[in-house]
Amino acid sequence: MCNINPHKVCNIWYIFESNTQCGYERQQRPGRGGLRLSSGPHDRKTIAMEIFEAAPPGGGPSLALHGGAGGRVEELTVAPYAEGLLAAYRAGWQVLASGGHALDAVCASVEVLENDPQFNAGRGAALTATGCAELDASVMTGAGLAGAVAASKYARNPVRLARAVMEHTEHVLIVDPDVEFLERYGLEVVERGYFITEARQQQLDRVIDGRAVAARHGTVGAVARDDAGRVAAATSTGGMAGQADGRVGDSPIVGAGVYARDNVAAISCTGHGEAFMRGVVAYDVAARIRYAGAGLAEAVRETFEQELAQRGSTGGLVAVGGDGRIVVAHNSPAMFSARGTGPEPALTT
Ligand code: ASP
Repeated sequence: MCNINPHKVCNIWYIFESNTQCGYERQQRPGRGGLRLSSGPHDRKTIAMEIFEAAPPGGGPSLALHGGAGGRVEELTVAPYAEGLLAAYRAGWQVLASGGHALDAVCASVEVLENDPQFNAGRGAALTATGCAELDASVMTGAGLAGAVAASKYARNPVRLARAVMEHTEHVLIVDPDVEFLERYGLEVVERGYFITEARQQQLDRVIDGRAVAARHGTVGAVARDDAGRVAAATSTGGMAGQADGRVGDSPIVGAGVYARDNVAAISCTGHGEAFMRGVVAYDVAARIRYAGAGLAEAVRETFEQELAQRGSTGGLVAVGGDGRIVVAHNSPAMFSARGTGPEPALTT
């Protein structure tokens, strides 16, 4: 039985019994409508864009990952984040170095980040307004196959689930699949509490108190081009801290938070999802290359300017071109990334 406290004016607050369904035990949370996503079209944290470009490797593979845009710089520069990114890069690189498919590489990297509670994906994901983890993920190959899941609650690795949607169903996006669906495809099932960490509960408290606007998003993602020239992208997230239950951002939306097309580019995004959806950001980058003949970095710059900066929105992306060129870009205060064309990546914030 819920009682409404009428004295909180910024949100409607509900006092409710501990929510055992999603495995957390807090007494006070805002209602299901969530908190206003204040990094919306009028985000004041937009900064000058930072962009890194690495030349094509001369035929060999390329790999780039992001650990999310929107974290606080001081968080992102601490060693454990770098170690997490490094482990994820190595998992992906191992696939590419042994001649594996770009899809296997991006999934291997993202899985490592989903298992690392520091990142906003899988275990340690950002929590909804009622303190639950609702996970979104997507994969896409340059050959045009795609799979995604939204509001996933039981798959230990949402990126695997997205891949299963791509490989085993006739659909592209499935919302809130049940345990039976996961078991049918041999995916590991976990209790909802598995995803919830103390750090994310504290983050949610800060968001509710209005003390953590800039750190509300995160997301992880990877792009790769393999030895055979195939590209792929994967994105995985818990969404934005304090989001309404049921809210879905750009990460599982093909063309918004993920896109891949052989001989053009593979792109994985992070940032304020509503802006990335309105700007169809991942596809916009690819379209500039495909139809307007833009270079990868030029396409990324123009998309950021026209689809994000002009709307006052923040975020970042990693992209790999059809020639293996890598671009890492963000206009948020920070974005942690790893990129490379060999076993040791360059790490950037
Ligand atoms: N793009 C994600 C979303 O809006 C959040 C993020 O990238 O941090 O759900």
